[in-house]
Amino acid sequence: MDLPPGPLTDAHCHLHDDQLRGAGFSVERWLCDEAPADWRGIVNGTSPADWEAVLALARTDARILPQIGLHPWRVRERPRDWASRLETLLIQNPQTGVGECGLDKWIEGADITDQTHVFKEHLSLAHRLNRPLTVHCLRAWGPLRQVLEGTPNRPPAFLLHGYGGPPELVPVFVDLGAYFSYSPSFADPRKTRARAAFRIIPRERLLVETDAPSMPPPADTPGALLLKAREDGPCLSHPGNLAVSLRSLAGLRGEDTESLREALEQNLRDLLKFLQ
Ligand SMILES: [Zn+2]
Repeated sequence: MDLPPGPLTDAHCHLHDDQLRGAGFSVERWLCDEAPADWRGIVNGTSPADWEAVLALARTDARILPQIGLHPWRVRERPRDWASRLETLLIQNPQTGVGECGLDKWIEGADITDQTHVFKEHLSLAHRLNRPLTVHCLRAWGPLRQVLEGTPNRPPAFLLHGYGGPPELVPVFVDLGAYFSYSPSFADPRKTRARAAFRIIPRERLLVETDAPSMPPPADTPGALLLKAREDGPCLSHPGNLAVSLRSLAGLRGEDTESLREALEQNLRDLLKFLQ
């Protein structure tokens, strides 16, 4: 995919998520009237139930860059034919990446063996079809490293979205070819591990994301946009928090925002250059 230079791309979000709609966010309004003129986003599907919605959104607006996969939280409920359905849709939609997929030991009752089996299928599919892949990882950095190091036939490029792993593993994942995206939730000074990691990640592997509706910035962050479905409900992240991610990352690294933004867009083009 030959993306034009310029915009700031959200490397990971779920614009089609029902939680956003339930909190009064309209994806149609966002795309028509509200998104910054230079906005664009990688929208990730997480299970067969939302793959078609992501692909349909991408068909209506070229600023939506689709990826589809089976999130580790959806592994348990997967239909038997998930892998063949995923492969068929990826072949039918050549400009589509693979993900969100990965490993998660944080969720209750995590079956890491089963998750690993499913994750390896994604790696193999992305390798065979030459597609970039997005990884979700929570509290499973050792197993993730093991799987990636044990898989010689990896995707041509992959993103560790919202990287919250140990700074010590950054050089390992860099050598394996990883890109890393910075979440607005890392504007929280208490996220010391993620912030330490993003200080040392090489500039040419950095991206920014919102993960909307998940992972909102702290409410007192300047420019933070928060949504709620109910008064007493959890805060959700708005896709407009991409600007918060960029400013926070630039501040953390002591970099000029505009020059960092240009570097991030070059990185995005490098990540997606394998798409037809
Ligand atoms: Zn996500």
